[in-house]
Amino acid sequence: MNAKVWLVGAGPGDPELLTLKAVRALREAEVVLIDDLVNEAVLEHCPAARIIAVGKRGGCRSTPQAFIHRLMLRYARQGKCVVRLKGGDPCIFGRGGEEAQWLRERGVEVELVNGITAGLAGATQCDIPLTLRGVARGVTLVTAHTQDDSQLNWRALAQGGTTLVIYMGVAKLGEIREQLLAGGMAADTPVAMIENASLPGQRECRSDLTAMEDDALGFQLKSPAILVIGAVAAAATQVDSIGWAADRLA
Ligand code: SAH
Repeated sequence: MNAKVWLVGAGPGDPELLTLKAVRALREAEVVLIDDLVNEAVLEHCPAARIIAVGKRGGCRSTPQAFIHRLMLRYARQGKCVVRLKGGDPCIFGRGGEEAQWLRERGVEVELVNGITAGLAGATQCDIPLTLRGVARGVTLVTAHTQDDSQLNWRALAQGGTTLVIYMGVAKLGEIREQLLAGGMAADTPVAMIENASLPGQRECRSDLTAMEDDALGFQLKSPAILVIGAVAAAATQVDSIGWAADRLA
């Protein structure tokens, strides 16, 4: 019996942002376990598969991780082709690494398939280049949400000179703002907050580090949303971002 589980990224929402490999895995799938950030439109590629929703958004009804593990193992051991479909990329704040290790330790073959992660998609949908020559020479992907008490090195993030892309940050805007200001980031650093990136309900709120919490409140920003913090978020155009960065350096 060839037990195999595909851990597949469904991308940020727009079904056209699915990879060809994800589509192939879905076509072969007999059982598909989906997270609730997955746009169900992608299930058109697996009409005959059994679909099991195992979403667990913060604060909502949830399926324990141990149960998801056991479910994948059970179907794989039955010889079924199992696809575990996750929003964005399975290994960016998606527990892909954790699930792959757990399954491999039990003798199950695992294949990971990239998806376009929400942070990259959100920026691109708003014409924000996350790296830009002369403005941002790197990108840092960060989650604002932790299950332990571990602390990020905010000073390094504030002063690192890379564009910050923050996941799961909507409920933590005040803390993010305070930490980055305390870490030495300029108060007028541009911020873009992108809700439902790549979906029909996409909304975008432009602000800066000082005002982002108030602006998000006024905008009624809701999860899922991505924060892009840095000079590149100044405007949709390269010229404006360069202008902002040049002013800072002058
Ligand atoms: N594995 C996913 C991330 C899961 S963590 C990925 O690679 O994209 C969940 C967080 O992702 C949300 O809190 C939000 O910050 C972000 N997110 C996921 N889908 C999103 C979308 N369509 N628009 C904006 N943010 C999104």
